[in-house]
Amino acid sequence: MKAVRLHHYGEQPRLEDVPEPSISQPLDVIVEVGGAGLCETDLQVIQGQWGARTDPVLPLTLGHENAGWVREVGTAVENVQAGDPVIVHPLTTCGFCRPCRAGDEAHCERAAFTGVDFDGGMAELLLTSARSLVKLRPLLQPAEVATLADDGLAAYHTVRAALPLLYPGTCAVVLGAGRLGRVGLQCLLALSPAEVVVVDLSDRDLGVAAGLGAHHTVRAGRGQVQAVRDLTSGAGADVVLDFAERPGAEADRIAMVRRAGSYFVVGSGANMDIPAVDVIASEINVVGKFSGSHGDLADLVTLAAQHQIKLETSTYDLDSVAEVISDLANGRLRSWGVLTPTPG
Ligand SMILES: [Zn+2]
Ligand SMILES: [Zn+2]
Repeated sequence: MKAVRLHHYGEQPRLEDVPEPSISQPLDVIVEVGGAGLCETDLQVIQGQWGARTDPVLPLTLGHENAGWVREVGTAVENVQAGDPVIVHPLTTCGFCRPCRAGDEAHCERAAFTGVDFDGGMAELLLTSARSLVKLRPLLQPAEVATLADDGLAAYHTVRAALPLLYPGTCAVVLGAGRLGRVGLQCLLALSPAEVVVVDLSDRDLGVAAGLGAHHTVRAGRGQVQAVRDLTSGAGADVVLDFAERPGAEADRIAMVRRAGSYFVVGSGANMDIPAVDVIASEINVVGKFSGSHGDLADLVTLAAQHQIKLETSTYDLDSVAEVISDLANGRLRSWGVLTPTPG
């Protein structure tokens, strides 16, 4: 089968023929890949920034945002059967450790990340575990929703953590109207009564945010903190969700939070250098968020099926992988890029 393989860190991956995966464990599932999304994580894996953390064996098939159709299942698999459309949670987890038992499998002690620790979905077939699969409702096409497995999941996980803080009359600021921020915005609008302010440098992206229903938009730059205060009677936002993918204006990001408010950071663009005294005196909560649970992914797929989450995806065949990676690296990919090894 065809697969996008990384042989050496710092070199571009190449499309080549590899043997098809086979079932060896009772909970193994082979998925025919209908959509494999790309994001900055893939660029970091190519550059070797994840290698030091996880030390995968190269060559490695990339692809951590996957959806498709079940082709074959192991002897113990009962939750899916051949032909089912599924989205694949990027983590495989054990189900037995303390975090897994507590329903927090995102922190499984034996978790492995698809397309980083083992072969991913930029290939015609993906070998994964039945525990990682969420069934898709029939109307959802795998290529349309594949990117929910990473960007979308992180954004939903962050919004869900903020929801108890967002009652009627509160204000949430979304920093960054890129891929993460757009899903975060739509989750907030679907699930919370808060007024939502979106802050971004790009007028185009602010226009997209307004089109998705943002209550207010603010052009990032000088005056952004005052603009948020003006929208909140001078107090600042109850919650700031930092989805920004580029560094800059870190002090402003915290300054938008009201006293005893919360700052959730999920975009990896910022370098955090916050005077402790400011955090102490204002009793601000600073919370990091990464990837959501299997339940979070099931929730998110339901929101997509209800048309509450819309993604602008551009699809490409596997042969175009070099072009998509180049567009992503050079900032030319404005929407979500998804490879379609098996078109739906
Ligand atoms: Zn990703
Ligand atoms: Zn576990």
